[in-house]
Amino acid sequence: MVLDPATLTVAFVLLSAALGTLLLFSWALNPRVKALAWWGGAYWLIALGIGSANIRPGPPAYSLLLVANTLGLLCYGALYTGCRVFNGRSAPLAATLGAAAIWLGAFPFIYTSQSQRLLLIASLTLVYSILAAWELGRHASRSLTSSRVVLVLLLGLAAFNLSRIGLALAPTSVSWIDALAHRWSPSMALLLVVFGPSLAFMFLSMAKESVELEYKQAALVDPLTGVPNRRAFMQNASRLLARLGSKPVSCLLFDLDNFKAINDRHGHDTGDRILRIFGEVLTSHLPQGTFGRLGGEEFGAILPLAAREAAVLAEGVRHAFSTAGAETLGDLARVTVSVGCVTGAGADAGALLRRADAALYQAKRSGRNIVIAA
Ligand code: GH3
Ligand code: MG
Ligand code: MG
Repeated sequence: MVLDPATLTVAFVLLSAALGTLLLFSWALNPRVKALAWWGGAYWLIALGIGSANIRPGPPAYSLLLVANTLGLLCYGALYTGCRVFNGRSAPLAATLGAAAIWLGAFPFIYTSQSQRLLLIASLTLVYSILAAWELGRHASRSLTSSRVVLVLLLGLAAFNLSRIGLALAPTSVSWIDALAHRWSPSMALLLVVFGPSLAFMFLSMAKESVELEYKQAALVDPLTGVPNRRAFMQNASRLLARLGSKPVSCLLFDLDNFKAINDRHGHDTGDRILRIFGEVLTSHLPQGTFGRLGGEEFGAILPLAAREAAVLAEGVRHAFSTAGAETLGDLARVTVSVGCVTGAGADAGALLRRADAALYQAKRSGRNIVIAA
């Protein structure tokens, strides 16, 4: 099969421009995922770079070489910056423009030497591929399957650029590498025609996965206190109960005391502030994923503890809340919490909560601000 370089070039340029447009369109639909704009820009830059280098048949003039490679290096800069932005990190100008600036500075001294040009370009693109892969691996702000695939693709890109460095340094040419990586050959064009869409598809998957994760988290977190909501609590509780089987498990039910009166006397905002303080106390006293806000001023916890340890923990929370309330609110309001505490084995979360509710009722009848273990 004979691959026509001109056809492949046209295909690559048009494909890159189309993918760039799709990434930008996707950004317009999800403006919060700003990385899509960077990646869309990167695809447009490479389309313009390769397009300008191949605008006329034969080897490009020096001015075109300068422009085309600058655009190519800006593409790598945008690719890397996009990965940083995706992780919620800054987008420093040096990261985006650094390689292009080095190339522009060095060009007057090396433009007559093809191998020196290749060495510099391949080294800069290698560094950027590795930086982008490092960014996704090391600084990931969330664990996404698609971003691990992108990391592998970027390492593939790094290997490709490394082979080009080897080529620039090799005293004699190695035919298959020469065809694949030296010039804009049909084989290299074919490689990039396959690579470009794969990477763009995975960038889109990354954006989709991160947006989905955000929605999922929003559906599981109570917006006022930042602790897991009732749905998350019930899910975590069922998981914990299934894991524990017949081992002992304790359920704590917390209800803030006289909260209606506090709201009436000091206003709803103060009430909200108190709920947030209680959320912080729970977060600092109980392991992640074991507690949640069940609704209103009621919170629950399910812990793999025996009765005695659970009661000690509940007592710690009760005491810490009144101390934190006194520290934060001063004389404004005295805040306390009553706790119902039960221990069982092999029960479901609903049954444990019902029994804890009965203990909580006892706590309220006993005068509040107390832990009652059933
Ligand atoms: P008890 O000691 O018997 O539990 O009395 P209580 O006043 O705490 O209980 P009650 O069930 O009578 O009142 C609960 C109050 O909690 C009523 C409601 O206005 C308030 N509340 C529920 N959700 C919120 C909220 O998100 N913010 C604020 N500020 N108040 C809330
Ligand atoms: Mg209540
Ligand atoms: Mg109450």
